[in-house]
Amino acid sequence: MSEGNTEKEKEGAQGPAPGLYVHVPFCRGKCPYCGFHSSTDLTLVPPWLAALEEEAGRYREAFPAFDTLYLGGGTPSLLSLGDLERLLAFVRRLFAFAPGSEITLEANPDDLTPDKLRGYRELGITRLSLGVQSLEDRELRFLGRRHTAAQAEWALNAALTAGFAAVAVDLIYGLPGQSLLTWESTLNRLLAYRPQHLSCYQLTAEAGTILMARLEQGEFALPGEEDGLAFFLFTSEFLGDQGYCHYEVSNFARGQENISRHNRKYWQHVPYLGLGPAAHSFAEGRRWWNQADLTAYLKALARGETPVAGREVLTPEQLRLEALLLGFRTRFGVEVGLLLAAPNGQENLARLRETGLVELSDGLAIPTREGLAVADRLPELFLE
Ligand code: SF4
Repeated sequence: MSEGNTEKEKEGAQGPAPGLYVHVPFCRGKCPYCGFHSSTDLTLVPPWLAALEEEAGRYREAFPAFDTLYLGGGTPSLLSLGDLERLLAFVRRLFAFAPGSEITLEANPDDLTPDKLRGYRELGITRLSLGVQSLEDRELRFLGRRHTAAQAEWALNAALTAGFAAVAVDLIYGLPGQSLLTWESTLNRLLAYRPQHLSCYQLTAEAGTILMARLEQGEFALPGEEDGLAFFLFTSEFLGDQGYCHYEVSNFARGQENISRHNRKYWQHVPYLGLGPAAHSFAEGRRWWNQADLTAYLKALARGETPVAGREVLTPEQLRLEALLLGFRTRFGVEVGLLLAAPNGQENLARLRETGLVELSDGLAIPTREGLAVADRLPELFLE
């Protein structure tokens, strides 16, 4: 029996409306820092769409309605408008979406044209997430990106005037040779466009990537912990001064209304369904994930089998630990009661307040800017 037809899936999700994630596993090439599985073989788009429709159909009883849809990847903007239209048509036929649903599409600047942007709006995309990464050509070349700074600025401007409810921009900092001054100049140029949302990620070399191999060969160095912290705090202060609220370790919104509704579900244990290779799902304290490899995913569905590669039922202790990990990474915070229930919880919470890492508000312990900088270390103080 397929994952989508098990009794547990039929129980469905209760409480806040779940979110739907669709993974588009295609890219033009491989960026050296990227550890995600993706395919450059676009002849696989039609079979992937057919497999996705088959997979989606298996979940229509368990997840009848959503209020967010996130098309991520990979590179969703590689899809033609016709393919995207087909995808959205079967997703909307199989599931209900609440009025005013947030529908996000990730795009690379070099894929965008005025026609495509118009098409996205006509297809009901409300939020465009642009992979700008940098506005310095030298840095873009280092990252192996296929767009130039000029293309990124064109895309930003075109996206912001196309009428989306929000344009989100992804940036990477902590690049070799980058100083706080050059990073500030990138931010300044970008903020001239006033995007509604920014994600700023520190460059890390992941195991198995080309970047890691080059790092190990001594081709370049990445900033150490102290410099990384300086970039982090500078970014938070700088964007805070420009009216962006630092609501998650890497995420900034121009006003509460621009916080990513879809990603918030991940951080607050709200159920979500992930479709496509490598997609993860969560509901009712259970998590399951699909085959990461596109070919394996296609073969499983073609044989009428589940593409699910693994699943786990989280114990109350695991759920509690995740609530700590996720809560301390966001300004949504952690319930104080959860912290006080831990051995030495009261003393440790008092210590975090005294050292300015956490503040209390409405029964929640909320990490400050300095707290977000060490978010991953805070949960260990409250383990049972
Ligand atoms: S960074 Fe994005 S565009 Fe580059 S290979 Fe990874 S998923 Fe594809």
